[in-house]
Amino acid sequence: MEYRSLWTGLLAVFAALTFAGCSQNDKMRPPAISFKPQNAPVVPRSMNQMSREVGIRVSYMPKSTYARKRASSMTPRFITIHSTANPKGDANAHSRYLNSGKSRSLNWHFTVDQFGAYQHIPTTETGHHADHSGPGDKYSVAIEMCECTTHNPAVIYNKTAKLTALLMQRYGIPLRNVVPHNYWSGKNCPAPLMTNGRPGYKWSWFISRVDYYYRCLQAGK
Ligand SMILES: [Zn+2]
Repeated sequence: MEYRSLWTGLLAVFAALTFAGCSQNDKMRPPAISFKPQNAPVVPRSMNQMSREVGIRVSYMPKSTYARKRASSMTPRFITIHSTANPKGDANAHSRYLNSGKSRSLNWHFTVDQFGAYQHIPTTETGHHADHSGPGDKYSVAIEMCECTTHNPAVIYNKTAKLTALLMQRYGIPLRNVVPHNYWSGKNCPAPLMTNGRPGYKWSWFISRVDYYYRCLQAGK
């Protein structure tokens, strides 16, 4: 009896392993990302062309919001990459949340999802997103990547890399100043691009995408 139930158990495990990949949910899930650096040839683009590829929509938070009232002017020297850790909200939802003034302490410059980017505050104004008014907040433009489960993360990473390259070009920011939130505070952010809570091969892959799009912009000047 004991023997037979062991068999049944093993068969159940085998069946689960074999058929796990065919469930309805998996069909909805976007394909996995390899995070292998690619050697794609440079395709020259103007800043306008790349902006259109990102799809940037400006929807500034009202100046009367608490976050904007305490902001100061900024010359961007860094670009800080975050991710929302919110499985539900897309970029529009984050825009509506910030514009409502409900977020007392936090704000940032852009939120990217698979359809494009929302800009919440001017890039020449400080946000509050990295290190409690430390250098990360004082000198960096912040980009939040959506983690909504229905969106394709590969598309979001590429749009974010394009937006980052555009900001590098516009403000003369070097690639070494493109940093994860982790750099300022040690937080595990952007979590999907960290490895054991630190920048690793996924972050390197992302930086190689930024570098690639920056070279496309340089070639398109
Ligand atoms: Zn963050």
